[in-house]
Amino acid sequence: MGKWYFPCMTMFSVQAYGVEHAAAPVAPFTIPRREPLPGDVQIEILYCGVCHTDLHIARGEWPGTLYPCVPGHEIVGRVTRVGAAVTRFKPGDLAAVGVMVDSCRKCANCVSGLQQYCVEGPVFTYNSPDKWLGGHTFGGYSSSIVVDEAFVLRVPAGLDPAATAPLLCAGITTWSPLRHWQMGPGKKMGVVGLGGLGHMAVKFARALGAHVVLFTTSPGKVADGLRLGAHEVVLSRDADAVQKHANSFDFILDAVSAPHDLNTYLGLLKLDGALVLVGLPAEPLPVAAFNLVLPRRTLAGSAIGGIAETQEMLDFCAQHRITAEIELIPLQKINEAWARLVRQDVRYRFVIDMASLRAG
Ligand code: NAP
Ligand code: ZN
Repeated sequence: MGKWYFPCMTMFSVQAYGVEHAAAPVAPFTIPRREPLPGDVQIEILYCGVCHTDLHIARGEWPGTLYPCVPGHEIVGRVTRVGAAVTRFKPGDLAAVGVMVDSCRKCANCVSGLQQYCVEGPVFTYNSPDKWLGGHTFGGYSSSIVVDEAFVLRVPAGLDPAATAPLLCAGITTWSPLRHWQMGPGKKMGVVGLGGLGHMAVKFARALGAHVVLFTTSPGKVADGLRLGAHEVVLSRDADAVQKHANSFDFILDAVSAPHDLNTYLGLLKLDGALVLVGLPAEPLPVAAFNLVLPRRTLAGSAIGGIAETQEMLDFCAQHRITAEIELIPLQKINEAWARLVRQDVRYRFVIDMASLRAG
């Protein structure tokens, strides 16, 4: 792996888990991290959430995976070292890193705080070119990470660190569209799919005051949907129950990871209602033009959220005592967790306890 590195850059090795190719099991190996630059924060990773994106990318379901791949972009840890120019963090602080570790910082989108829509493309926490070490970035299934402080988040006091980790992707990815489409009192909102993203959307929608209807394929999740904050839960395979909501929604957030029929949900929107995709199935999804044209409906998408917005979301969570529902796992159980994710058997986010890596 020596050919990847710039000779002038000093680095150190850390333990990680990842895949060598699309069909390989997740297995331990060693990766490089750069020695902290003046603006960098080094974080000992305590917890890392398991996002369905980890699976899409590691398994090569989307184009462009760079191998070996070390996933993980829901990171909470303890600051161990800071560069001389760092002002917001000191050793001992709790800190968090999400889906991005850098962007161009100059384009109009970056300047307005929307780094996730950087015109050059943000530097993702994993699977992006690494301008410092060469090669590509490695994510949070690892013992430590070094990140520019501009992309490090503060973890507000009072939040459980393990249950906070999923907020760094599942949280911000659902928070951002809810804010953009102004969910609140008087709005009827749908959530499709009760997984990692979906369960955060239900919690946020309820906290913001919208009327929340959950659509799930899983009869076993109905009670949880209500407990998590949905006012109503509809089994999406019950066509009659679904149709009772025709032409009634202001907004539906679709957080489904696999191919499914969008036309059903478009038909549930009222005039000027929006169906917003955050889920990213690999295959194209057919849309009937009539379902958009009558009555003037919108189909849109949304990606994670900006850095300032992520901090705003974390602060909102601290204020409203919101965290993810998690199942804590040792890193050694990651293959089993991925298999369960594919079977829709997640309640509602796996979080890796990184102490398991240090324990060997
Ligand atoms: P997840 O925890 O696996 O949840 C996905 C849920 O989708 C499942 O729990 C299930 O809910 C539903 N589902 C799965 N297969 C289905 C099928 N064949 N038909 C209908 N429903 C199905 O996944 P996640 O981590 O929340 O991620 C969801 C998607 O969002 C992934 O594609 C991920 O890559 C994407 N994502 C996008 C962004 C972004 O920035 N836009 C950020 C993060 C993740 P029920 O059991 O309730 O039906
Ligand atoms: Zn994610």
